Formats: sequence, C-alpha cells, structure tokens
Amino acid sequence: MLDLSSLYRRGMLGITERAWVNRLFTQHPVGRRLATRFVAGEGLDDAIAVASALNRRGISVSMDHLGEHVHDAGTAAEALADYMACLDQIEAGHLDGNVSVKLTQLGLAVDPSIARDALEKLAKRAAGSGTTVTVDMEESMWTEATIELYEDVQQRFGNLGIALQAYLHRTVDDLVRVMPLGGHVRLCKGAYVEPPEVAVQEKGQVVIQFRRLLAMLMAEPATYPAIATHDDELIRDTYARARVRDGSFEFQMLYGVRPALQQEIIERGHRLRVYVPYGSQWYPYLTRRMAERPANLALFLRAVVGK
Ligand SMILES: Cc1cc2nc3c(=O)[nH]c(=O)nc-3n(C[C@H](O)[C@H](O)[C@H](O)COP(=O)(O)OP(=O)(O)OC[C@H]3O[C@@H](n4cnc5c(N)ncnc54)[C@H](O)[C@@H]3O)c2cc1C
Repeated sequence: MLDLSSLYRRGMLGITERAWVNRLFTQHPVGRRLATRFVAGEGLDDAIAVASALNRRGISVSMDHLGEHVHDAGTAAEALADYMACLDQIEAGHLDGNVSVKLTQLGLAVDPSIARDALEKLAKRAAGSGTTVTVDMEESMWTEATIELYEDVQQRFGNLGIALQAYLHRTVDDLVRVMPLGGHVRLCKGAYVEPPEVAVQEKGQVVIQFRRLLAMLMAEPATYPAIATHDDELIRDTYARARVRDGSFEFQMLYGVRPALQQEIIERGHRLRVYVPYGSQWYPYLTRRMAERPANLALFLRAVVGK
C-alpha cells in the first residue's frame, strides 16, 4: 500500500512532467531562484567555485553536469566534452572531487556502444588525475544495461563506482554482483516512480531494504561504501556500523539539502562527499528534489503568490 509521502512523490513527479508546469518553473524567476538552492549554477565556473568552497570545509564533491535522456549522438558527444572539461578543472584546481554521470546522458538510449566509449574515455581521463567516476542509477528500464556497462568498464579500468537504489526488488542481487568488482558503491533510496512489480512502494519498506543493503555493504571489505541519504535513522545506523570500516566509507549528500546535518557529519570526523549539480538542464533534477519534500514545493508556491 502507498503511504502519504509516496503518494505525494508519485503525484508530484506526474504533474511536473507536463509542459505548462515545466514552463512555469523554468520561465518564472522564482523557479530559477528555487533551482539555485539545489543547483550550483548554470556554468562550470559556478560549479567549480562551489566545489572549492566545499573542499575548504573538508567536504569532497561529486560533480554532476545536469542532463539525461539524450536522443542523438551529437548531444551525447557534447555531454562527454562537458565532463572532460570538468575533469580538467578538477585537476587544475587540485580539487578533492570526482564526477557523477548518467549513462542516458552519454548516449545509452542512442546506442550502448556510444555510452561505453564515453565511459571508457572518462575513466581513463579520471585515472590520469587520480580520481574516479560514479555511474548514477536512473529509471529501472536502464538498470540492467547500466550495470552491464559498469561491469565491463570497471573490470578494465578499476576507478569507477555505481549507484544502487534500495527501493528496487533486484538490488540485493545487484549488490552481490557488483561488490567483487571493487569499485565504490553509492547506496541511495531511489528517486523515480516505479511500479510495484519493480520496486517497494511504501517508505518504511524502502528503509528496511536500505538497512539490509547497508549491512551487506559495510561488511564487505572489497568495496568502498558511499551512503547517500539525509535520513536521520539511516545515518544513525551507519554511525553504528562505522567502527568496522576504520574510516573506509563516506556519507554522500546533495548540495543544498540539510546543510546543518552535513556540518555535523564532518564535525564527527566522518568523510562526506556532496553531489554538486550544475548546468542549464536543471528542471528534471529540481522536480525530483521537490518530490522528496512537500516543503520545497510550498516554498515555490509561496514565492509565486508573493507571500
Ligand atoms: C549523493 C546522492 C546521490 C544520489 N544519486 C542517486 C541516483 O543515482 N539515483 C537515484 O535514483 N537517486 C539518487 N539519489 C536520490 C535518492 O535516491 C533519494 O531520492 C534522496 O536522497 C532522498 O532520500 P533520503 O534518503 O535523503 O531520505 P528522505 O526520507 O527523502 O529524506 C530524509 C530527510 O532529509 C530531508 N530531505 C530529503 N530530501 C530533501 C530535499 N530534496 N530537500 C530538502 N530536504 C530534504 C528531509 O528533511 C527528510 O525528512 C541520490 C542521493 C544522494 C544524496
């Protein structure tokens, strides 16, 4: 059964797919202002400035050049070039950072070989400056192709990591499959609307699955766990399991989400990486952040009516 917050998330993601809602957000100055709370800026320079400031506070970053579901090879090539430029800036600025990529942005839907070629180039470039590439996880129709491509490139380059979503029924098997590859594994709840055959629907059930995966991941010495959540309960669980890792794991959080909690985590001496999205294609990313928290939508609506 769906609980209220899952219903809100589902409804919200449905509404924001409509063209007029998209226009309302992207063309209204308030929409753009709300985006700046969660997005570092439209240009690479803006994002690098945010990343440098986070590094100065002892926080690592993962840079996400926003974009997804690319349908032509030319746009996929542009996305690859943008990520290459980002890796150049990370190296030039001696930043403690890596990049997070979506395979549909690198051409997975056009031709898997385009995405494979791009991921290899990024892995090679990142290795050249001693950093890594994290493969984001998208809608479930892409899960198998994403994991297959990750396995292939990780086996040859060794400096990749992958995001796995706790809400999917298949994720325990996927975790068992990717752990021996030795990359980092980002464990998150999952941000998309999925049917009951594919994913658990109720928030409490997602937390139960997350806990099970967390226990497996933190107990596996061959992999580096990246625990991506802002959920107090799951963060407490991670603190409790931290002793066995001897510092060899990190928390991951989103830029602009629960900054006080982010500060608390570094003050406790844990590693934290903040996901820094940037670029002009911020609308789908913003809709997922609003779907996670009704207060974010309320903020927007209040600003539109001028209250
Ligand atoms: C670094 C990182 C990378 C991610 N990568 C992926 C990915 O590759 N694929 C994928 O499907 N999902 C990804 N996600 C998103 C994830 O799946 C969840 O949708 C998102 O993190 C919200 O879940 P939560 O665990 O924070 O718990 P929630 O229960 O949603 O939130 C816990 C608390 O955090 C606060 N909070 C949460 N979200 C927000 C927000 N947007 N604004 C303000 N406060 C908020 C609220 O106070 C809430 O009570 C990623 C998340 C992070 C942190």
